[in-house]
Amino acid sequence: MSENTTKPSDTCDSNCSSCPHGTTCEDAEKRSNLPPKAAVDVRHVILVLSGKGGVGKSTVSVNLAYALSNKGRQVGLLDLDIHGPNIPKMLGIEQHQLLAEDNKIVPVRVTGSLQVVSMAFLLPQPDSPVIWRGAMKNTAISQFLNETRWGSLDYLVVDLPPGTGDEALSIAQLAPNVRGAVIVTTPQDVSTLDSTKAISFVEKIGLEVLGVIENMSGFACPHCGEMIDLFGSGGGERIAKAHNVPFLGSIPIDIEMRKAGDEGRPFIIRKGEKTPSWIAINEVMERLVSVVEG
Ligand code: ADP
Repeated sequence: MSENTTKPSDTCDSNCSSCPHGTTCEDAEKRSNLPPKAAVDVRHVILVLSGKGGVGKSTVSVNLAYALSNKGRQVGLLDLDIHGPNIPKMLGIEQHQLLAEDNKIVPVRVTGSLQVVSMAFLLPQPDSPVIWRGAMKNTAISQFLNETRWGSLDYLVVDLPPGTGDEALSIAQLAPNVRGAVIVTTPQDVSTLDSTKAISFVEKIGLEVLGVIENMSGFACPHCGEMIDLFGSGGGERIAKAHNVPFLGSIPIDIEMRKAGDEGRPFIIRKGEKTPSWIAINEVMERLVSVVEG
């Protein structure tokens, strides 16, 4: 393909001023129609994505937010899994409601350095379904950014619904300082295949893939301790290598981790014996923090 026929979108670095196609290209035209970035005072926005549901995306979001806040960072956790918002349950704050002050949403404070906004706080019953079209989701996401009193944040961790839908696009367009996305997968092919799509999606919208996490990677038999690869192993690392993005590590299946989620106590803050699963999740979070903070 000659230089003249190269599609701008093939080489686009989102910087129109340094692009030979200038503002004449289709992408530049589209970008000029984009909504302005939301007025949130945040240093880094981190998106947590997965190709499939049930692979541990919300578990990673909650533990990552806690790991960052334990390091003294001011952290917001935004649950955009609009159709299945589980973050409040995982943090033991599902009875809370969002309050408004001076027409601004006030996030629910979990600790001095961790606050949460979730669609779950707006539902009349925890099992009420949300039946919304794309435009309504977009409005809600804009309000969760623009009309919410987050204060000054070091991080906003965003838990997205599985797949590559409206919510991911909206937040990528509206949020300022998006640092990149973390992809959570389980090891087996049916999950890694969808995760590959999620990686391509993130790259296509011009964001950095901060890394891949393989969750539910093996299970230590509680009777004999033997490691059983329920869902296989190595799939996460394989797709990370294939896409040349960091592999952040594997987290095994642990009954205590499931209980921690159900009981509203993030696994990473558990006291007492440091089990192999705790060490694994802690290492994954440390690696992610060092990728993000550089
Ligand atoms: P997703 O957000 O991808 O739908 P969740 O984080 O809600 O997935 O996890 C689904 C279920 O699996 C939850 O009950 C959670 O506590 C549990 N879970 C996640 N990771 C693990 C793990 N490594 N070991 C045991 N249970 C896990």
